[in-house]
Amino acid sequence: MTEATDTAQEIPRGPVGVTVLGATGTIGVNTLDVIARHPAIYRVVALSGNQQVERLAEQCLRFAPEFAVCADGDAAQRLAAQLRQAGSATQVLSGMAGLEEVASLPQVDQVMAAIVGAAGLYPALAAARAGKRVLLANKEALVMSGQVFIDEARRHNAELLPIDSEHNAIFQCLPVDFADGLEEVGVRRILLTASGGPFRDASLDELANVTPAQACAHPNWRMGRKISVDSATMMNKGLELIEACWLFDTTPDNIQVVIHPQSVIHSMVEYIDGSVLAQLGNPDMRTPIAHAMAWPQRMASGVGSLDLFDIARLDFAEPDMVRFPCLRLAYEAMRAGGTAPAILNAANEIAVQAFLDERLPFTAIPVVIEKTLEMTERHEAKNLDVIMVDDRIARETARRLVTEGVR
Ligand code: NDP
Ligand code: MG
Repeated sequence: MTEATDTAQEIPRGPVGVTVLGATGTIGVNTLDVIARHPAIYRVVALSGNQQVERLAEQCLRFAPEFAVCADGDAAQRLAAQLRQAGSATQVLSGMAGLEEVASLPQVDQVMAAIVGAAGLYPALAAARAGKRVLLANKEALVMSGQVFIDEARRHNAELLPIDSEHNAIFQCLPVDFADGLEEVGVRRILLTASGGPFRDASLDELANVTPAQACAHPNWRMGRKISVDSATMMNKGLELIEACWLFDTTPDNIQVVIHPQSVIHSMVEYIDGSVLAQLGNPDMRTPIAHAMAWPQRMASGVGSLDLFDIARLDFAEPDMVRFPCLRLAYEAMRAGGTAPAILNAANEIAVQAFLDERLPFTAIPVVIEKTLEMTERHEAKNLDVIMVDDRIARETARRLVTEGVR
């Protein structure tokens, strides 16, 4: 990644106002890298982080946003003190209210929703309700709230553009207008590619002894810790399956997951005439970020050319749902409907954190999720209140299962 040499004051400030939620994370940092390449087009209005105060302070000094938000109150105070000392004019806000505020400011046109996990739901929803272009990286938000989120975005004329590389690829392979459904535009099915993660070829015995450090070392992508573990269990693909159903108004039966270890094809769309369109590129999140920000135009992202001679071959395989039950659980939860995907997501967040804290073996992650799904009553997901109640109950159940030491 290139380092900026310009000071914030020297950077021209473009007309498109952007809020980057989760600016201190992997997606946030990549977003700011893209923005820095186009200072005449984009103007950073607000940045948010949680614990990484130093990094957020550096970003504020470089991009001079009007607002910076720390979800955590203590962190916000530390940030404000640092920025004051550095003579920055950035105003510091805190908490969920601060996140929702900067997602819906009138001077903001685009909101990068890149907070990890359920914490990102309300700020992303605030952006949708304010009719912004929502650059959706936070897949958990859509998994949890599904139809509610889609309806709110529609009602408020928000543009929902996928950042997740697979969904961005699918979006690129679809005609511009698919609002009347995939069938109407001749789509037979979606082929959702998956790298298979770092343990693609591991045996069940080997999986039982996986450590957090091993799980976070993804072969092709550099990502935050939670999504890295999700990739290793293949729950990431399960969440993406659900995300794709909502984004493209389709069902799990129209989506085939394809293991593709090279992560060069980011996903495909198959049409009824037998044509299969694919989007390819180096595995670098700056491509989907630049695509969604510039859409329907194109702009440089800093990502180099794909060297097909170097790649030489592309492999494909069927996913193994026995070694990776998380994918099966996601298919089942989406088919069950209602709050089942929210329960799945909540249990997964608890189980992944417990694994990262070394309180749960890797292979017990799907066990916690499956048992939580069995033990938590599912409801029709008619509004956010219902969803959040089931989310809370599922988290309590999953925590109890972790404490009881399920295997
Ligand atoms: P990271 O863990 O790298 O970053 C997460 C960001 O969210 C950080 O800015 C973090 O702040 C902030 N954050 C964490 N907890 C909270 C909270 N409770 N309240 C407010 N902010 C919080 O994750 P990634 O960037 O890898 O992923 C972000 C999202 O994008 C995830 O939903 C992921 O699934 C999705 N995604 C990521 C991809 C990738 O390649 N990384 C690809 C596709 C989707 P801080 O660090 O300051 O504590
Ligand atoms: Mg993805």
